[in-house]
Amino acid sequence: MNNCITKKVEFKNEKVLKYLPGSSERLELESALEEMQNSFLEIPVIIGGKEIKTGNKQKCIIPHDHKKIIGEYHLAGEKEAKMAIEAALKAKQTWETLPWEHRVSIFLKAAELATGPWRAKLNAATMLTQSKTYKQAEIDSVCELADFLRYNAACLHEIYSNQPISTQNVINRIEYRPLEGFIFAVSPFNFTSIASNLPGAPSIAGNTIVWKPASSAVYSGYLVYQLFKEAGLPDGVINFIPARSSDISNTILCNENLSGIHFTGSTEVFQDMWKTVGENITNYKSFPRLVGETGGKNYVIAHPSADIQALSKLLVEGAFEYQGQKCSAASRAYIPKSIWNNCKDNLIQEVSKIKVGDVTEFTNFMGAVIDAKSFNNIKKYIEFAKNSKDAQIIFGGNCDDSKGYFIEPTIILTSNPHFKTMKEEIFGPVLTIYLYEDEEFEEILDLAANTSKYGLTGSIFAEDPYVLVKAEQALTHTAGNFYLNTRPTGAVVGQQPFGGSRLSGTNDKAGSKLNLMRWISPRTITEKLA
Ligand code: NAD
Repeated sequence: MNNCITKKVEFKNEKVLKYLPGSSERLELESALEEMQNSFLEIPVIIGGKEIKTGNKQKCIIPHDHKKIIGEYHLAGEKEAKMAIEAALKAKQTWETLPWEHRVSIFLKAAELATGPWRAKLNAATMLTQSKTYKQAEIDSVCELADFLRYNAACLHEIYSNQPISTQNVINRIEYRPLEGFIFAVSPFNFTSIASNLPGAPSIAGNTIVWKPASSAVYSGYLVYQLFKEAGLPDGVINFIPARSSDISNTILCNENLSGIHFTGSTEVFQDMWKTVGENITNYKSFPRLVGETGGKNYVIAHPSADIQALSKLLVEGAFEYQGQKCSAASRAYIPKSIWNNCKDNLIQEVSKIKVGDVTEFTNFMGAVIDAKSFNNIKKYIEFAKNSKDAQIIFGGNCDDSKGYFIEPTIILTSNPHFKTMKEEIFGPVLTIYLYEDEEFEEILDLAANTSKYGLTGSIFAEDPYVLVKAEQALTHTAGNFYLNTRPTGAVVGQQPFGGSRLSGTNDKAGSKLNLMRWISPRTITEKLA
């Protein structure tokens, strides 16, 4: 008998642990790293709970030591993509009718496991295969991952609690149905938490999923799948299919039962998926919901009244944490000439402190970039700047892939506000700075607003409150996450719902009620009493 009307599900952010030398968390992490580096994991495709080894395999490498292979995964093809859709549709029948408390409790249990017995394992996998430092891994693969799971549970309860009024002789209620069909979740390499949330958010709302992880993050993705399984997720609710996108995309995107795409990655890939859906729009049983959080070219604008020390420190953190491979990373800055000399000294001092290397050495601030393709792409931008008369490299600029895909934190100074590296997303440790005359501040707001096609994050540094208000208004449509006097990165679930507009995505704010609403199709039920 279920006749409970439950109280609000309380939410609190997971505490970030410090990993001080000798602490229990540090010892556990060191031992997990050791074990993972010295073992080999074979990762199958998982459909309807069944492991499938296709024999078509790819390696899991360590980006900061790329000759070291710690696993391999089997690739799904067209056949497995079809099987995954069938498994998702079959599991849907029972999953969507399971009382919601049971669905939610599985994900809350997954959060408990992630922050408890799975903590070291998730961190170690993210450090090794995505080259994150222990700090970056902890805030991602443990804290943000658990926050997404718990906050989604709290938001879902809030949504379900929202009911219409009834009158004397009519009772009204809303049933928050999941979508009919299956959801295609496609995750990026750079956040284990996002990889977990892309299949996790729609499935907590009763949907079933075909999930394709990014090729360079299959290892941590597989652990996330196993975590859900240990927490009690029934077979077929999430189907895990690592694959070359060209082998499976059309089969999935053109299937008549596609009810939604939950994507995070580059703008161009999302545009491509949208185009395919558009071309097939008359073939679907419903209108697929398209949710995509995509690229960015995030700005920092300093006003002459800015606190120079805070600006320099936060600019360096915002640009170079996780090698600039955060969608929110600061990658272009506008600084007034009057403060530049002072600011430059501070910046160089801050960036000179950065140690780049193997992330298992806990004193390193930066690891390697994700893979050879990304290394070559970032290097090309740096070479372009080196060879341009409009730019000068004022720090870094060296790249070395002999052992790992290492790129120095690099600062470019340009005299051209439309310089290539002021406009295009590089997704690496490269910050470009343009200097302006103090009296041009208002023009600079306009210039920053219209230089790139993206609208993800941005910051303004000023001590003058009138300036902050002016900038906030002038930059309204330039960033879905806008920051005053701090860096444009580091959004926390429940505190800064995250997502951008323009070509940075559909801005459905990952980890929020807005996002969950996209995976729900409400049915209003009316009963007339007399
Ligand atoms: P990516 O676009 O290369 O890949 C993302 C995913 O899409 C991967 O799983 C990839 O295999 C898959 N994919 C590639 N081509 C596809 C196709 N034709 N059809 C279907 N799937 C395809 O991105 P990435 O390199 O993994 O991640 C970096 C990008 O993600 C950056 O642009 C970054 O800004 C963005 N990002 C955005 C956010 C955000 O919240 N806005 C968060 C993280 C990353």
